[in-house]
Amino acid sequence: MRWGEKRYNSLNYFLREKFGEKVYKVSLDGGFTCPNRDGTLSKKGCIFCSDSGSGEFAGSRKKSITDQIEEQLELIVKKFPHGNVIAYFQNFTNTYGDLEYLRKIYEEALSHPRVVGLAIATRPDCIDDKILDLLEELNNKTFLWIELGLQTTDEKTAENINRGWKLEVFDDIMSKLNNRDIKVVAHIILGLPNESFETMLASIRHIVREKVWGVKFHLLHIIKNTNLEKLYIETKFHTLTKEEYIELIAKGIGILDKDMVIHRLTGDGSRETLMEPKWSLDKRNVLNSIEKYLKENNVSQGDQDEKIT
Ligand code: SF4
Repeated sequence: MRWGEKRYNSLNYFLREKFGEKVYKVSLDGGFTCPNRDGTLSKKGCIFCSDSGSGEFAGSRKKSITDQIEEQLELIVKKFPHGNVIAYFQNFTNTYGDLEYLRKIYEEALSHPRVVGLAIATRPDCIDDKILDLLEELNNKTFLWIELGLQTTDEKTAENINRGWKLEVFDDIMSKLNNRDIKVVAHIILGLPNESFETMLASIRHIVREKVWGVKFHLLHIIKNTNLEKLYIETKFHTLTKEEYIELIAKGIGILDKDMVIHRLTGDGSRETLMEPKWSLDKRNVLNSIEKYLKENNVSQGDQDEKIT
């Protein structure tokens, strides 16, 4: 197999190959909000978004970037006393701010001696040409990727989840980022209300066509105190079973291009805030079940690529 023990190109494998050793991510809060929450586009946010802006494990925005990095390093000191890390600006929209402020916090992260790269999560409608220039500049001096929360390519679902931008916005920014050789990770949520298997697989095919570098697969988590929770209580829409999720993930892995990097195969739920699907709390079991399914069904990343048209 091409990717060590795995049948797919995991981020862990990719980073070991690139840096010659394990590299962790430290999740940071850059103090941002989001146009989909501050009233610029909407005050409701994406239907699944939690109070923390979909960044449950990030540092505290009350602390400086340097202090957050130190604090996160402290949490992993036992298993990772000296290694290097990627600074991951995770929650809310991490390019939604003044250009000089963006430069300042990214540079602060990069100035930490153990930071060897940057990951910046944002929305495709929050990257203008000046920000693109800044990202290109950063890309030329460090290992950088941008994360975009595509979630789905279905316009009806996008409206239902209040994503706030159309697919053409994603496609447009993809071509601009690709033109500047800036790597992009797309988030895809499996199990959004009323989506069929085929709709979800169409989203995966789309990111392959758009030459996305990496993907984060998420199982839809219904988090307490979100608009999604209200919808679930009202409509009891179908949530994926573990068996359905594993089958979908296996199909998705088969569809991906062989060079794409899989950053995540399922979400990290918190016992306190996750309403459904509860089976996903046993993450180890889910990951083991995916590995088992891939092996038993002889599926490897990219071996279904003839399906991409
Ligand atoms: S774009 Fe991100 S931060 Fe903004 S509402 Fe959606 S999930 Fe939340």
